[in-house]
Amino acid sequence: MEGNPLLLAAESVLLRRIQTVYVDGASASGGGTGPALRRLEAELLGRGHVLSPALHAALGTLVPEELAAAHTRLVGLADELLGSHRTHVPLFRRFPHTVPRDTEALYVDRVFAFLLQQPDQPCVLCGEARTVFPVSPCAHLVCRLCWDGSDYEGCPVCHRRIDADDPFLRPVRAIGAAKAPLAGPLRLLRLGTDRAADATVLVDSLLARRTPLSPQDRDDLLTLLPLTPAGRGLLPEEIPVRETKAMVLAALVRAAPDGLPVRKLLAERLTTATDVLRLLAVLSGGDAGLVTPSPFTGPRRPLRRDLLAVLDGLPTPYLVEDVLRHPTAWKRAAEVLHPFERHARHPRAALAFAVLRGTRVDPGIAFGAALLETAAAHPDAVRVDGARIRPATWAGRLEQAVAEGDAGRAAALAAPGGSSCHLSGHQELPRPGPVRRRVPLRRPPARRSGAPQRHSGTDPPRPGAPVRPGHGGLRRADRARATPAAG
Ligand SMILES: [Zn+2]
Ligand SMILES: [Zn+2]
Repeated sequence: MEGNPLLLAAESVLLRRIQTVYVDGASASGGGTGPALRRLEAELLGRGHVLSPALHAALGTLVPEELAAAHTRLVGLADELLGSHRTHVPLFRRFPHTVPRDTEALYVDRVFAFLLQQPDQPCVLCGEARTVFPVSPCAHLVCRLCWDGSDYEGCPVCHRRIDADDPFLRPVRAIGAAKAPLAGPLRLLRLGTDRAADATVLVDSLLARRTPLSPQDRDDLLTLLPLTPAGRGLLPEEIPVRETKAMVLAALVRAAPDGLPVRKLLAERLTTATDVLRLLAVLSGGDAGLVTPSPFTGPRRPLRRDLLAVLDGLPTPYLVEDVLRHPTAWKRAAEVLHPFERHARHPRAALAFAVLRGTRVDPGIAFGAALLETAAAHPDAVRVDGARIRPATWAGRLEQAVAEGDAGRAAALAAPGGSSCHLSGHQELPRPGPVRRRVPLRRPPARRSGAPQRHSGTDPPRPGAPVRPGHGGLRRADRARATPAAG
């Protein structure tokens, strides 16, 4: 187990986040490792950690070789947590076979040093940070609410015999002892029993977050993911933050577990073109938030095909609008997706990229004719304007105007009545009925708040259309609308 770096990394995350330690090989037959265990306790205390009774007991059942391995692993994890990343050099070279007599004194001195620094420390029995007292003679720390020494003959952690008349050590004896090796409070380590179950609880809570994850949370999520059902593609129904979703999907695409139907998963989970763009960004080592532009690396061919199929399966008006919303990034993405290659397999995706690129459509060649045929089948999304294909929806036209830097056209579109007037020489073509009906409905209500709602409530019901939480589009529309007033 110590040889598995992935598992060790996961244990490191679990130790930091929920203070659990997993002891493999605990058995009733081991034991007899009292001094060696004491040495481990002293080393961990020197790194600010104390053991719960269950963890102490589990470590106490290990045979010497196993305990030595657990010692190296645990001290290494604690060092990593402190950020020291130093290689652990045992103070006693032949450890654990020789343990110095002064281990006891070392442990007690360290406990005193921590207590003198801060009397409130976690009680190893209840885990609460309270005024704790060191049991005599072992210096295990308990609070008076949990244990007052009167009813028992032994320490509740190590069961060493105590003097019932004087069950606690007095730190005052430690004057002149070493300073605490680090600032308190101590951290109580507990015995974990199921790495996968603990990792699953953590991963599920991170996936359920409604705000973007911190870099540390993102790293932890990816480290724990392989231990969890989510790491086998069994994702929760909803992952509210789209950046988080992109990150998890990228991890699954990169190291697809055996039998995971990647294409089906992507088709279910990538519900907007921007989702596809986020995934491509993460797979290219870039930013899922799409804030920092970064170059895309070409996906392997099966994945490229899957992503084009996902785009092709999205409702075409949304596809066109979304692609126009991130024009620069999509133009770069197109260089690695090659949407015009084998366009017959994904005609709607090819159509959206033709709108984005302003591709000249030549009905005399097969590709042009195919584009025009697809365009004719989607009057709700696009319309043919001479040799170009343009977005048909109000939002799509607005996105294109913004993308092309045409502030006048964007402002006219965003202004009341803008959808029906002729815009900066841009010839309006007669639109089919359904679009005409849709246009007023799609215009954002006059709102001052920035909360975008463009695809919720105001859309006519579309059978099979995915539920789309709003994104930044309306904010931009507000800005465009504000331009004439401000200038
Ligand atoms: Zn307590
Ligand atoms: Zn004890």
